[in-house]
This record gives sequence, C-alpha cells and structure tokens, in this order.
Amino acid sequence: MFKALVMEQNDEGLASAEIKEISEDALPEGNVTVAVEYTTVNYKDGLCLSAKGGGLVRNYPHVPGIDYAGTVEASDDDRYKPGDKVVLTGWRVGEASWGGYAQKARISADKLVPLPAGLDTRQAMAVGTAGFTAMLAVMALEDHGLKPGNGPVLVTGAAGGVGSVATAILANLGYEVAAVTGRPDQADYLKSLGATTIVPREELNETTKRPLEKETWAGCVDAVGGDMLARVLGQMKYGASISAVGLAGGAGLPATVIPFLLRGVNLLGIDSVMQPFENRQRAWERVATDLPMDKLEAMINPAKLEDLPALGADILKGQVKGRVVVDVN
Ligand code: NDP
Repeated sequence: MFKALVMEQNDEGLASAEIKEISEDALPEGNVTVAVEYTTVNYKDGLCLSAKGGGLVRNYPHVPGIDYAGTVEASDDDRYKPGDKVVLTGWRVGEASWGGYAQKARISADKLVPLPAGLDTRQAMAVGTAGFTAMLAVMALEDHGLKPGNGPVLVTGAAGGVGSVATAILANLGYEVAAVTGRPDQADYLKSLGATTIVPREELNETTKRPLEKETWAGCVDAVGGDMLARVLGQMKYGASISAVGLAGGAGLPATVIPFLLRGVNLLGIDSVMQPFENRQRAWERVATDLPMDKLEAMINPAKLEDLPALGADILKGQVKGRVVVDVN
C-alpha cells in the first residue's frame, strides 16, 4: 500500500481530491515501477486538480501529477535497473493516465529519462515541466542564431515557473534579460535570478494598431501568448526569434504577418509533452550544466501532498512564485 492524492467525481460530475492509501495493483500498466520522491505543480496540474479536470483528465478515479522524479524500484526493461534515478515529464501522464501525486508510479521505460549527473530528484522537480520547457525554449532560440551580445532577451510571465527558469538560464549563459511581470513586488526576486531590466506587464499587454515598433529584443521566451505575444512580435529585432511556450495571458494571437515579412521574425513553437527522447535527454543535460543550482534553490517553495489542492487553485490564478517542490513521502 502507498499514499496517493486521488481525484474522484461526485454525482454532479465534479471532482475533488483526497489523500488515500492505495494498492500497487491499482497502478497503470508499464514495465518500470518508480518509487516517487518528489513531484511539483505546473499550470496543467492546476487544471487537472480542478473540479472539471480542465478538460484534460479522461477517467476518474484519477491520480494527477504531470511530473515526478524518483528511484526505479522494479524494471522489466534493460535500460533501467532498481536504484536508478529517473525523471518523468509529459506524455500526458497525470492527465490521460495516472501521474506523480503518489508514492509510486508505473510507466513505460520509453517515457523516462535518466537523471543527469549533477541533479538530484528534488532539484529535478524544482525544474519540472516548466523548467524543462524553459530549457527547450532557450535551445530553440540558440538553434535559430541567438548569441550573447545580440541584445536583450525578453522573458514574459517571468515570475512564474517557465519564466523564472528561463531568466536564470539566460542570465547564466551571459544574456541581458528583460523580465516582464505583473507583480512589481517580484522585481527583487527576478533580479536575483539575473534579470537586468524589469518590464511592467501593462507596458506590453495592450494591443497597438502599429504592426512594427522599435526593434528592441534579440530573442524572447514567451509564457503568456495573447495580446502580449502579438505586441512583442512587432518589437523583435531583424531576424530574431520568439519561443512560444504558454498561454497564461490567452490563447489568441491578434497579430499581423508584417513582422514575419518585413523583419524575418521567427515564431518557434515549443512543445514539451511529445518531445522525442534524444532532445529530452539533451535538454536535461543542459539544465544540469546551465542552470545555477543556487538560483534554482531560490525558486523553491516546499510542499506536501496535502497542500496540492490549494496550490492547484493558486497557480491557475497566477499566484505561485517560482517552483513548488512536493515531497510525497
Ligand atoms: P505559472 O503560472 O507559474 O506562470 C505564468 C506566469 O504568467 C504568471 O506567473 C504571471 O507572471 C504571468 N501571467 C499570468 N496571467 C497573466 C496574464 N493574464 N497576462 C500576462 N501575464 C500573465 O505557469 P508556468 O510557468 O508553469 O506555465 C506558463 C505557461 O506555459 C502556461 O500557459 C502553461 O500552460 C505553459 N506551458 C507550456 C508548456 C509547453 O510544453 N508548451 C510546458 C509548460 C508550461 P508574472 O506574475 O511575472 O506576470
């Protein structure tokens, strides 16, 4: 038996969470059983913890948790043996299948990534999907020519999970980082991560009729989407790229194609969920080398399984700072 946060539906079809003791037989199919040590809270987890499951949860009872890190307990796959440290993100785990809000998880070996040297399971969950995606976003900008010295790089939704990790990685790589936040009280936190400029959210979340503004940003990691992304497109330097990661400010894109046609701006889509293994491994290794662990430590809010329902509601309101690390034991 082990402890898990289980979501169950009432007669009206609304789900709520309860911590329960469940048996290993209840775990989904898979060839690797993982003793989970830490999990976390991403925006998607907030949706999965909500009464309607955010349209993501397929069946109840359900164990959410889109990320986890732990130790292999049993494996029928040659790539993993008991005692190996592993990390899991994405693949719709915690949405379509049971996830990491439990002391045990079962999964296909194809979906796991060995923990890179230099990262423990707690740090891996401080990174989580949000940080992993921030790394993918930075890698995509580099692959499209971004180099330190090209000019300032904008990070939107900067005090959130993706934004915090993107800020710390970019600053550590030598980029000048401009951090957009709607929480002025987080300015010192963002500067401690390495941001050199704080851009108030109001400056960028209003639409303009001008398709092009002053060429300002050499790159952008965008966690916000919506009006802000549309606005930022018109402020990119010639040939610069934006990694489109999130929709915290909306899924729409009320933009024109002018920045693409006249400035050769690139809009790069970033998906962490179905990312192939080789790039996952590359990104986790880059996280271990390029994200300063003292900065990561400053982002961590520790929590327990019991805290998850409240944290899920908070992240949907944009009220979680940095990264939550949940010790499931
Ligand atoms: P967080 O809630 O931690 O961060 C989002 C941040 O966006 C907030 O902290 C806030 O930053 C800002 N924000 C919130 N609401 C608004 C708004 N209305 N207008 C402008 N800014 C806003 O979430 P995550 O960092 O975990 O995720 C960020 C986004 O990225 C989400 O949309 C998520 O779904 C997406 N995502 C996508 C992935 C992918 O594979 N493509 C993977 C992971 C996440 P501040 O207070 O500083 O303004």
